[in-house]
Amino acid sequence: MSGAGWGKGEKVKDVREDRKGIKTPAGRKLERIGILALGLLPLVVFAGAWVWHRWDRLLDDWAILWGALGNLFALLGLSLAVVMVCLGARPPWIERRFGLDRMLRLHQVMGPLVVGLLMLHAFLRTLKESLVSEGGWRWDFLTTLSYENWTETALSGARIALTTVIVTSALAKLGRYFFPFHLWKIPHLLLYAALALGFTHSIIVGDDMLQFPYVLVWAGLLIFFLWTAVQRFLYVRTRRQLYRGILVEALPETHDTKTLRVRPKAAVGLLKDRRPGQFAVIRYKRIHGYSQPRPFTISAPPASDDLTFTIKQTGRFTRKLHKLREGTGILCEGPYGVFVPDLERERNLVLIAGGVGITPFLSMLRHIQQQKLGNRATLIWANKTRKDCIAGEELTGMAVQGLLKLVHVFSREARVKDAPGQGAVYFENGHIDRGILKKYVEPAGASYYLCGPPAMQDFVLRELKTGLGVQPKQVKRELFFW
Ligand SMILES: Cc1cc2nc3c(=O)[nH]c(=O)nc-3n(C[C@H](O)[C@H](O)[C@H](O)COP(=O)(O)OP(=O)(O)OC[C@H]3O[C@@H](n4cnc5c(N)ncnc54)[C@H](O)[C@@H]3O)c2cc1C
Repeated sequence: MSGAGWGKGEKVKDVREDRKGIKTPAGRKLERIGILALGLLPLVVFAGAWVWHRWDRLLDDWAILWGALGNLFALLGLSLAVVMVCLGARPPWIERRFGLDRMLRLHQVMGPLVVGLLMLHAFLRTLKESLVSEGGWRWDFLTTLSYENWTETALSGARIALTTVIVTSALAKLGRYFFPFHLWKIPHLLLYAALALGFTHSIIVGDDMLQFPYVLVWAGLLIFFLWTAVQRFLYVRTRRQLYRGILVEALPETHDTKTLRVRPKAAVGLLKDRRPGQFAVIRYKRIHGYSQPRPFTISAPPASDDLTFTIKQTGRFTRKLHKLREGTGILCEGPYGVFVPDLERERNLVLIAGGVGITPFLSMLRHIQQQKLGNRATLIWANKTRKDCIAGEELTGMAVQGLLKLVHVFSREARVKDAPGQGAVYFENGHIDRGILKKYVEPAGASYYLCGPPAMQDFVLRELKTGLGVQPKQVKRELFFW
């Protein structure tokens, strides 16, 4: 892999004409706005209807005010919970426009908000009951489980649902750091049942729920929720067939990085339609079932039948990956991500990488080389030392062939400024700052791509702005964290 040229001897498929799903930036923006509007629509309608129906009665007394506010929070919580389920289920029509990483980040940010809204709902409804009954604080309203009639049953269902939401969400938050994946992921699926209880509760107990437009939005949300749940279920059932592969090679790239080559066993599913820069979520086979999933960029170009993942050892999971034996089963779900250049329109690429953040660019550059696309590319790549450079020979080969201007920036290497470069290979010391950017970047018609650790990204964004006047929103970024 680190030799010059990708997949020597492999027959190169022509995948240049595949423009499926590629939109103009304006078209993409419009689609994103449409999806965001769809997500916000139930919130806006619920809030608008609440104000319309309730406003004149709100200040009649405290009990009415707290009760009504409690209802509003429940409506907002229900709507956002459906959005969260939808994000967690990763529907391709959203993923293609926003990218899985953004979706999962939003899912994580929204979690505490939804839990907070639902807890506020329970608190305010209890406050209302306490004020009405005038018998002190009604703890029993939060804790009683009774199934005497429909209303009591629906209330009990909601109490169980809220407890489930709080416990499973807390487990998921803590699980990232303290528990094995399966310990929090399996209970997390109970949220589907909790949401179903929430729907039942709201239609039976909700004050105005059977009125227009509440009932319409409620029905829309329910249909959307059920459809998402069924899609997810079908996907999980088939993914082992669709995305199974086998590890055929594990090649050391540097002292801490290996490239795993995975050969898909069955059809590669959608992975065969992948685009350069995209990633897959991979799991390896254990004695019982598969490991937890983790995202890794597919460093092989799209025309390659094999998938390769260039993986730096940083912790427990990656250590395990580095130790896998050939023949181990690997599940590769994907392709995901929108860190993908439009190579037909973007002719002057400025690629800025930090360390293993090179992987999406490897796949882009290999693709450009293989398909003879002729895009101009400047790769500015920060590493601590020469020893950390992944696929260094291959990239040098591309630069020598004139496909690439390659600028190495070393932070812990003895002075390299004057080291003899071959062809278009340059060496700098320090960090990627405005001086280096100004020296090597040709700004006319440039499209900027940035992948590296968060601190490095922040620094480079500032330097791009002050050095070249490039605004952060003009820079496409990939973060290796979510
Ligand atoms: C879109 C994308 C593409 C990526 N591509 C590559 C690639 O090509 N090569 C590569 O080497 N790495 C890549 N990564 C990063 C890689 O997924 C993580 O570095 C890796 O999973 C961490 O494994 P570990 O052994 O260090 O973690 P562990 O030691 O198992 O975990 C350390 C801690 O970090 C948390 N954690 C692990 N991964 C993440 C994450 N992604 N975000 C937030 N917290 C996390 C864990 O929950 C745990 O608490 C990519 C990440 C993303 C999001």
